[in-house]
Amino acid sequence: MSYDVIILGGGPAGLTAGIYASRARLSTLLVEKAFPGGQLTMCENVENFPGYLGGPGMKLAETMREQAERFGMESRIAEVERVDLLGVEKVLYTADKEEIRGKTVILSLGAKPKRLGVPGEREFIGRGVSYCAVCDGAFFKDKRLAVVGGGDTAVEDSVFLTRYASSVHIVHRRDKFRAQRIIQERALANPVITVCWNSVVREIGGTDKVEHVILEDVFTRDQTLLSVDGVFILIGAEPNTKMVDGQVKLDEMGYILTDEHMRTNVPGVFAAGDVRHKPLRQIITACADGAVAAAAAEKYIEGSL
Ligand code: NAP
Repeated sequence: MSYDVIILGGGPAGLTAGIYASRARLSTLLVEKAFPGGQLTMCENVENFPGYLGGPGMKLAETMREQAERFGMESRIAEVERVDLLGVEKVLYTADKEEIRGKTVILSLGAKPKRLGVPGEREFIGRGVSYCAVCDGAFFKDKRLAVVGGGDTAVEDSVFLTRYASSVHIVHRRDKFRAQRIIQERALANPVITVCWNSVVREIGGTDKVEHVILEDVFTRDQTLLSVDGVFILIGAEPNTKMVDGQVKLDEMGYILTDEHMRTNVPGVFAAGDVRHKPLRQIITACADGAVAAAAAEKYIEGSL
C-alpha cells in the first residue's frame, strides 16, 4: 500500500500534521521510533500553549496523538534507517527490513540536545551528566548541580531543578541570558540559584560519578573548581537531518530549508517543526508548521500546488 502522507517523527509538528492530514481524509501514517511527543515529553510544565493552562508536555502529546487517531491516522513504532525521497513514490526503509511507501512525506524529525564536547562529558553520561532536567532532576535530591547554558531551557530548568537540588550554579558564557525576561526573573529571584557569568566548563571530573567541574573565566582564563554532583548541559539542540542530507536542501546549521508552504526542494517532501530553518522553535510554531505542511501535501496530491 502507498499512503497519501507519511509523517516521519511524532513531535508536535508531526502529530498536528497527522490531525490535519487524516481529517482531510488522506491515508496517513505517522512513523516514530519511540512513543510520540518528541522533545515535548521532556517538558515538565507547558504554560505558553494557547488554550492549555499548564501541565506536563507528555499529556499534551498524548492528547494530540489521540486526536489524530480519532480522525484515522495510523501510527507505527519503527526505526527508519534510510529514505528515498527523490522518486515520485517516496520510500522509507526500516531496521526490520520493511519498506513504507507514500505519495508525500512530511519530515518532522525534530532536534536532539547539543553536546559540550569537553573531557568527562561522555564518560559521565548517566553518572551525573544529563541533557534533560525533567527526566533526571529527581535523581539529584539535596545535591549540588551545575547547569550549562543561558537560553530558555537552561534558565527555566534551573528553577525546576531547585525542587530537588540544594544548590544550582548556572554557568553561562556571556554576561546576559538569552532566555525570555519572565524566565530570567524567576531564576534570578531564586535563592538556590547562583549564576557564573562569562564562564565555560572546561572539564567534568570525578571517579565513579561526577564530583566537580572546572570552570574557566572567558576573559581572564582563570580556572576554578566547582564541586557538584551533577551537570545538566542545556545548550540547545541540533536537527536530526543526517538521514535526509543529500536529498533535501539544508542550511549551514543542518536545518531543512522550506518555503512558506513547508515545501522542501524535493517535490512531495515537506518539513515541519524544529527540524526546519525558522526563527522561533516553540510547540505552537511546530504545530502551525504541521498544519501548513499537511494542507500543502493535500494540494500536492490533488495537483494544485
Ligand atoms: P537556545 O535558545 O539555542 O540557547 C542555547 C544556550 O546555550 C544559549 O544561551 C547559548 O549561549 C548557550 N550555548 C550554546 N552552545 C554553547 C556551548 N558550546 N557552550 C556554552 N554555552 C552554549 O536553546 P534552548 O534554550 O534549548 O531553547 C531552544 C528553543 O526552545 C528556543 O527557541 C527557546 O525559546 C525554546 N524554549 C522555550 C521555552 C518556553 O517558552 N518556556 C522553554 C524552553 C525552550 P549564547 O546565548 O551565548 O548563544
